[in-house]
Amino acid sequence: MSKQKLSYDEQLAAAKQFIQEHEHFLVVSHIQPDGDAISSTCAVAWILEQCGKSYVMVNESQTPHKFHYLRGAKAIIQHSKEPINQLFDAVIAVDCADFLRIGSVSQAFSETAQILNIDHHPTSDLFGQVHVIKDDAAATAEILYDLMLTMQLKLDKDVSECIYTGLLTDTGGFRYSNTSPKVMKIASELLTYGINGNTLAEHLLETLSFSHIQLLKKSLSTLSFSDDYQISWMSITQEVVNNTGASNEDFEGLVNYPRNIEGVEVGMLFKQTAPELVKVSFRSAGKVDVAQIAKSFGGGGHIRAAGCSIEGELSFAIEEVVSKVKKALI
Ligand code: 5GP
Ligand code: MN
Repeated sequence: MSKQKLSYDEQLAAAKQFIQEHEHFLVVSHIQPDGDAISSTCAVAWILEQCGKSYVMVNESQTPHKFHYLRGAKAIIQHSKEPINQLFDAVIAVDCADFLRIGSVSQAFSETAQILNIDHHPTSDLFGQVHVIKDDAAATAEILYDLMLTMQLKLDKDVSECIYTGLLTDTGGFRYSNTSPKVMKIASELLTYGINGNTLAEHLLETLSFSHIQLLKKSLSTLSFSDDYQISWMSITQEVVNNTGASNEDFEGLVNYPRNIEGVEVGMLFKQTAPELVKVSFRSAGKVDVAQIAKSFGGGGHIRAAGCSIEGELSFAIEEVVSKVKKALI
């Protein structure tokens, strides 16, 4: 992977060149998109518009309703509902730690498609031909801000809202350890474009949906600990998901409850997504690199926040994962 030896500035220059060399793009992010994924998708679309290029934004999953205020978010096609029957030669993938995270949208890549991969996950499998991978960036949106500077684009209120949203959500409201001086510097500049940081924080971080509270109530009753109280987890069965009518976005933040307990090093949420399939979310207080644990189960992520899916029953997944986390804590 010689491309990875490029400096960050060289990677940004290569991304600029990639955009200049193509005309029509597919913009994609990861399945079950979060704030950074949607923001980055919309920010790339904004960049392409500034350059007079055409594009289609597609995601395998539905765009969570709470991100509809972002300029362009409503135009993101949900591939699982509305498959596009067009093949693309130029693809820009944002916030996708590995190729599989693109999901079914990869069916829309032509055989010779050129992919620009922009991401901040340390577990990146470096899919694509051109990369801008910066694993100490707080969010993919931070990298896109740098790309805008490289391309000498003049930011406006709409795109500022996108970048700010990516930063806000991936730093947990400017609280996680990825909240660098650079993040705060960018955020303070973005506020000068007229966006309302307070409204965004209220909307994205404070407001709880009714389904979320129902899920929280049910999942707290499953709260469990390892003998030394360094590991804590909660689980949600498919039945509970169905009964609460919860959608993906309603699960956000649940994993923080076990993680935030005094003395807990690793907090986890086990969510049964099918009778024999369990989605695991990991959060670490810092001692354990949960990206590596998730990776060992075919997933990935960041040192302090990662995820994977495990085939088997809920109790099996809990046993397997907890025993691996225990080993990592020895
Ligand atoms: P969450 O627990 O919020 O779903 O995910 C936390 C972090 O782990 C995110 O950065 C996300 O990209 C990553 N992640 C979650 N699930 C998976 C997965 O199945 N595969 C990979 N590679 N990364 C994941
Ligand atoms: Mn991200």
